[in-house]
Amino acid sequence: MSFIVAIDGPAASGKGTISRAVAAHFGFAHLDTGLLYRAVGRRVLGGEVPGDAARGLRAEDLKADDLRGPDVAQAASKVAEIREVRAALVDFQRAFATRAGGAVLDGRDIGTVICPEAQAKLYVTASDEVRAGRRYAELVERGIETTPEKVLLDLRERDARDSARATAPLKAAEDAVVLDTSGMSIDQAVAAAIAHVTAQHR
Ligand code: C5P
Repeated sequence: MSFIVAIDGPAASGKGTISRAVAAHFGFAHLDTGLLYRAVGRRVLGGEVPGDAARGLRAEDLKADDLRGPDVAQAASKVAEIREVRAALVDFQRAFATRAGGAVLDGRDIGTVICPEAQAKLYVTASDEVRAGRRYAELVERGIETTPEKVLLDLRERDARDSARATAPLKAAEDAVVLDTSGMSIDQAVAAAIAHVTAQHR
């Protein structure tokens, strides 16, 4: 039987960490849907046309080691505005979500567009400053050179574009539980998410 957990939220809200922990706790598969858009963005930076890049996406595109950088993130959020790109990625995400054994998908439109029928929905957020601080630490650890100011600007620019777009904008589903992780440790945020999913998973 399938059981779908939809986890949405803005960049660096903690949704990736929470999604991985929820998936591990329940033995569900996990899909970071941001990687699909990043992989398309990366191909477009390499000169491809967005629609072709999305339709031609292959498993190995998701394994490229430079998908996490800020340039690819910006390119991802630009291709994510294109209806044709989003449409090309729907079937893969839905097939993943409805697999037997349960699935956690994290992104921007999982609870609203990809899986409105998900049994558990979370909208994970945090203040801009907290999110920028987390992303800065993550990038520095990966050896990517940047500054806290640049990271904050980058996040705000991406959030504004993701929230304002006409197709599948970033927003909480009406039936999502909002989890503000600004003042929470990772363990607290994960525990709150697991408690919510457990309450739906009976
Ligand atoms: O989650 P992540 O920061 O890796 O996502 C990169 C970009 O991909 C986002 O800024 C957003 O524009 C896009 N995205 C999306 N819908 C999703 C997941 C990501 O539009 N479900």
